[in-house]
Amino acid sequence: MNVSELGEVMTSLGEPKWRGRQIAEAIYRQRIVDVEEISTLPKGLRQKLTSMGWRVGRPTVVQVFTSVDGTERYLVQGQLDGLTVETVWMPEGDEGETGDGLDGESEGGTEDRTGRKWDRGTICDSSQVGCAVSCQFCLTAKLGLQRNLTVGEIAGQVVAVLDRHGVEVGRDRVNLVYMGMGEPFLNYDNFMGAVRLLVEEVGLSPQRMTVSTSGIVPGIQRFAEEGPEIRPKLAISLNAPNDEVRSEVMPINRKWPIEQVVDAVRGVRLRAKERITFEYVLLGGVTDQPKHAAEVAGLVRRTGLPAKVNLIAWNPGPGVPYATPSNDAVETFRGALRSAGIPAYLRRPRGRDIYAACGQLKRTMEQMN
Ligand code: SF4
Repeated sequence: MNVSELGEVMTSLGEPKWRGRQIAEAIYRQRIVDVEEISTLPKGLRQKLTSMGWRVGRPTVVQVFTSVDGTERYLVQGQLDGLTVETVWMPEGDEGETGDGLDGESEGGTEDRTGRKWDRGTICDSSQVGCAVSCQFCLTAKLGLQRNLTVGEIAGQVVAVLDRHGVEVGRDRVNLVYMGMGEPFLNYDNFMGAVRLLVEEVGLSPQRMTVSTSGIVPGIQRFAEEGPEIRPKLAISLNAPNDEVRSEVMPINRKWPIEQVVDAVRGVRLRAKERITFEYVLLGGVTDQPKHAAEVAGLVRRTGLPAKVNLIAWNPGPGVPYATPSNDAVETFRGALRSAGIPAYLRRPRGRDIYAACGQLKRTMEQMN
């Protein structure tokens, strides 16, 4: 619930509306998890709320998978129907924000409750249980769409991870990527509702958030209307050098081909120095050849957008018929883009051994056994 919804609950109980602000302050800023401990509310009101069944709806982390590289993958359970999604914590990030033009430098280290030091972290958040977009390289696609996550479930995953690592918003440097399970722009209202909560109430910066879309044009058009005080940065999951290959790898391209996606992106009013990110998963032998790099460079240049390319070497998953590109192919690809004047960065694969890396989230335990 946002402040205004909390205020409505208060007025329905005969309390002043501003008590909604007090509650928001307690549960989002101070991250209090028990109604009884909200000391700004009169004791009688706390007891009344508890006896009526009101509680702070934090999602539960039901399982944690820890990678040798420090990445943690969580199975997070909502409180509605017990369905789980996955959220990932990457201490030191994955370089995904490098070259965005908006991110600051590192600001010293912090020790979390597991005793590990980190200078900065990245949280990868899910927006749906499963996904309806059939990207051929992605394990989540195999689940199909089970349901949309609610505003509280999308924001709650993030708050659960902040709590787990003792992150102090404003002090610690934390990036947030909406790149977990699901297509955020096919659950637009709940996704943006969660962004609003995380920015306005929890205090995270939208300039440290990136949402990635497979290219849902109506969603991008709505996103273009959001103000800079709330709008995360935008990444387009490109993954192919042209429409022909993209339609094979990402069938959604048949509905909204590259040019239509780029046209919609042109409507987004970028902040000073902000860049659009094109995410590009390199599939061995399929999209990682030098001729593909030349095509991608031409495509990105023709968009006329201030842009950069994030390269991701495909992360293997059971039952997905692709090959990981060789290190040579990846370096050659990046070199070709850079020589063509396109800023290109390599995203470090994080948590591959625990199926936490890009395209590997599938609400799985069986694969870990
Ligand atoms: S890559 Fe993203 S949009 Fe595509 S199927 Fe996977 S979760 Fe869905």
